[in-house]
Amino acid sequence: MHTYPLPPAELKGEGMTSQRARDRLAAVLQGAGIRDPRVIEVIRNLPRHHFIDQALHSRAYENDALPIGHGQTISQPWVVARMTEAMLEHFEGRRDMPRKVLEIGTGSGYQAAVLAALAAEVFTVERIEALLRQARRRFRQLGLTNLRSRYDDGKLGWPDEAPFDAIILTAAGDTIPSRILDQLDPAGVLVAPVGSPSRQNLIRMRGDGQGDFALEELGPVSFVPLLGGIG
Ligand code: SAH
Repeated sequence: MHTYPLPPAELKGEGMTSQRARDRLAAVLQGAGIRDPRVIEVIRNLPRHHFIDQALHSRAYENDALPIGHGQTISQPWVVARMTEAMLEHFEGRRDMPRKVLEIGTGSGYQAAVLAALAAEVFTVERIEALLRQARRRFRQLGLTNLRSRYDDGKLGWPDEAPFDAIILTAAGDTIPSRILDQLDPAGVLVAPVGSPSRQNLIRMRGDGQGDFALEELGPVSFVPLLGGIG
């Protein structure tokens, strides 16, 4: 893991957004079954309140999804942690972190910022320009330099940067778009919610490097839909 940059002083927060609030959230996630200490440490250090509107700051460290405008949400911290942990598990015993990670659905930028601490390079795609602009400003303020973002339909992936060691979708479709699958390294891992708006499952696909992918179901989740085209 990179030594994650501690939040700049002005982003540290106080009261409901203080370090104590982040410590409590980390403890809640551990209590809810998140085991990877790297994931817990990143969430403990990353100011989630920086990724949401000021009016919701008092709820930033609750284990809940919150609205970010444009009908979208910042994912629940437990889901961010679970997806990140499920991704990292795949690399255990090979190398300690993935090199290139693709995220579809930048949204607030929070999941991308978590990934940036645990991968060499992160690429993230968002179809709503206003959300992407805000997320970019947040990345800059946090000094994240190993993260690139793109305004596009994420169903197309990011072909110029493929293949990716890991791909994470943070919006749910009925299936995984084939162009995205094509961009996964044969030894890579994909973690994504799949299903209808009312019934979704978190799935993980792990490549064996020989062209086979093992599919696992990791449990029910609730994500906003993966839409087509740009917003
Ligand atoms: N990872 C985000 C979660 C945001 S919600 C976070 O940590 O805050 C999912 C996001 O996926 C929304 O911002 C939505 O606009 C985006 N999205 C949905 N379909 C998309 C697509 N086809 N391409 C890119 N982004 C998409």
